[in-house]
Amino acid sequence: MNTSVIEKESIFDVEKIRQDFPILDQQVHNKPLIYLDNGATTQKPTQVIEAISSYYLNSNANVHRGLHELAERATEGYENCRKKVTSFINAPSERSIVFTRGTTESINLVANSWGRKYLKEGDEVLLTEMEHHSNIVPWHLLAEQIGIVVKFIPINSDGTLDLDSLDELISTKTKLISVTHMSNVLGTINPVKKIIERAHQQNIKVLIDAAQSVPNMPVDVQNMDCDFLAFSSHKMVGPTGMGVLFAKEDILEEMPPFFGGGEMISSVTKAGSSWAGLPYKFEAGTPNIAGAFGLSGAIDYLEKIGMDNIQSYKTRLTHYAIDAMQRVPGMQIYGKARDRGSAVSFNLEGIHPFDLAQFLDQNGIAIRAGHHCAQPLMESLGVNGTARASFYIYNTFQEVDIFIEKLKKATDFF
Ligand code: PMP
Repeated sequence: MNTSVIEKESIFDVEKIRQDFPILDQQVHNKPLIYLDNGATTQKPTQVIEAISSYYLNSNANVHRGLHELAERATEGYENCRKKVTSFINAPSERSIVFTRGTTESINLVANSWGRKYLKEGDEVLLTEMEHHSNIVPWHLLAEQIGIVVKFIPINSDGTLDLDSLDELISTKTKLISVTHMSNVLGTINPVKKIIERAHQQNIKVLIDAAQSVPNMPVDVQNMDCDFLAFSSHKMVGPTGMGVLFAKEDILEEMPPFFGGGEMISSVTKAGSSWAGLPYKFEAGTPNIAGAFGLSGAIDYLEKIGMDNIQSYKTRLTHYAIDAMQRVPGMQIYGKARDRGSAVSFNLEGIHPFDLAQFLDQNGIAIRAGHHCAQPLMESLGVNGTARASFYIYNTFQEVDIFIEKLKKATDFF
């Protein structure tokens, strides 16, 4: 670890961070809440809640079309969010940032706009076995509707991608590789830069599902050289219903709009319509303006802590949790990648994950149980479902200790 990271880590004050999240200070079933369901959605700090309420209290108006003070403030706040996102992921220009409802909509936008324009029957889209359904179903829809072929990069037993299979899987028909940066089940961080380099040698475009990575580590789209990247605000202390699609400008220029309506046109006559420039041709209708104010607040909040500090604190916390979990009798953890995020999926022998989640809930601990919207992965792992704990910046080592204690209690209880 270099000294600057050590210096910054010393200013990572989890107790101070917790004070920004009033929701954490409550009892659930008469026990202090321990929220370990961050892979599903994170809690929101006061700063983000205030950013949203300040929009409604002081600046509420529609964007882009008003000629009055409130409309100007709303537009400025909305576009300010685009500037912040641009710099947060080091995109080359604000024109390459499209606001959506979230990762799911961003991927659907690519499938329906880029996909329908460039893919034809027999063309291949390569995914991985560890994708979230939101990066599978849009391609299955295209398979059904236009006859594309969806293929999957398999995983190794340690939960990493079997990249040796790439040469066999990539063919002259492969047009897109769409891959998660960080698995929401296994925690694995995939070597996306390597995959992108390999894909670009054959002129194949690459979409990165960054729903789990952008909240948890520094992400630089120029360094990565991805063609598309999607993420959601609600997993990074921002509001729900707000998300981002980054795409290279030249690709976006050539893509037709996905939704039609107000805001996205340059002119409409009875004979036809023409589109606004980038990124507006992809933002039909009144957007999630409050969401943009909130996402701005979220980016400010995370940047103040520093994404490298966030990653390093969470890595320490996650490894601490995994070490302790491995000592719980009957524990099976899925995914042993060295390079990992904080989602830890597991099963306790003889205990159904739903029962375990309920038992933990009775003890104030929120985890997730089920297939985590990754049924093909469950099939590869040979399980119906798993329990999953996922940690974020406000979780403490003491919380992990209590979690472990309750896991041990569960093994006695069942
Ligand atoms: N991809 C991954 C890896 C995810 O973890 C999630 C959310 N669980 C999504 C996509 C979908 O995100 P959203 O529901 O915010 O669109």
